[in-house]
Amino acid sequence: MKLYEHEAIELFGRFGIPTPRSIVASTPEEARRAVEELGGQGVLKAQVLVGGRGKSGGIRVVRSPAEAESVAGELLSMTIKGESVRRLLVAELVKIARELYVSYAIDRANWGHVMLASPMGGVDIEDVAARHPDKVIRISVDPLVGVRDYHLRRVASFLEVPDGVVGDFVRTVRGLYSLYSEFGCELAEINPLALTEDGRLLALDAKLIIDDNFARVRGLRFEREKNLEEVAREMGFSYVELDGNIGIICNGAGLTMATMDIVKHYGGRPANFLDIGGGADARRVESAVNLLLSTGSVKVVFVNVLGGITRCDEVASGLVKALKSSGRGVKLVVRLVGTREEEGQRILRENGYEFYRSMEEAARRTVELSREV
Ligand code: GDP
Ligand code: MN
Repeated sequence: MKLYEHEAIELFGRFGIPTPRSIVASTPEEARRAVEELGGQGVLKAQVLVGGRGKSGGIRVVRSPAEAESVAGELLSMTIKGESVRRLLVAELVKIARELYVSYAIDRANWGHVMLASPMGGVDIEDVAARHPDKVIRISVDPLVGVRDYHLRRVASFLEVPDGVVGDFVRTVRGLYSLYSEFGCELAEINPLALTEDGRLLALDAKLIIDDNFARVRGLRFEREKNLEEVAREMGFSYVELDGNIGIICNGAGLTMATMDIVKHYGGRPANFLDIGGGADARRVESAVNLLLSTGSVKVVFVNVLGGITRCDEVASGLVKALKSSGRGVKLVVRLVGTREEEGQRILRENGYEFYRSMEEAARRTVELSREV
């Protein structure tokens, strides 16, 4: 599991790795107060799991609490490489003299670990390795022995760490190794590890990919938004996300597959499909539609249900309720046959929704509507 920076620096704290003072904010107001607390200026850092935030505009220096509030507003409405920014790390602004790079990673080729370090931190290590291979030092670490002080002193001298800071450097990089091994990490990276103008050594960024099982054993839990497929699974629906604009709701795997095929046959592109299973009542249909509509991409919902144990009137009222309360101009095409079909049909007609008995006709109409919008 990859950690957010704010989670990673919390672990850094436990392992004696120094980081600038910082506060997590999820609203502009909180960011303003955080900057006040940090002395009136700071760095606002978008908390996302994708890399290269800085280049994407996700790191902003602010010089006043008021500026923090407005910049936080911008950052919190940003999407970085498809990931929306929900939190910011508000950090003390430090004056950087030099940026270093240090990391530990698994060295699969040698059945061990490797430490990488470079005096050219702050940029991608891959770039440095490609352009200035002489500026990257690689040290194999035997998992049974761990990292030795002479390794770290050699690295410190390669990075030209000033004498007064070597002690801090050794403690920091040793701490990073402890964290790396205690959490079964795939990667533990500090980039940049900054030497500040006032002679401090601070980890300004943190990238950790830890092993979930190690974290669990050590009593750590990291909150993650569940994605829609997980939510659906917990609700007992089979749900799969695709990249079109037609939402598909059916009952039973066979009918679901057939519906996908026919929609594609007429040139439509499913946004997802959801199998409500057998015997769904109005409430269940309603939650299925709500789930489907929570993805912005759905423009038309195609419901193809065969009433057996499932009652058509229950399905119809669930559909109507969900669509009425969604407040979105989503079109609905329903093909509903079987138990209490007439009743279901009446509910849909009364509420102004299209109703079909034939699957072909319904599919064709669905695709037509998906092209209009
Ligand atoms: P990344 O793009 O996700 O790697 O984001 P980082 O957290 O590494 O930040 C990118 C760059 O922003 C760093 O390399 C620094 O140059 C700069 N930066 C981050 N924090 C500070 C700070 O406190 N002061 C200053 N002056 N620059 C900072
Ligand atoms: Mn970085």
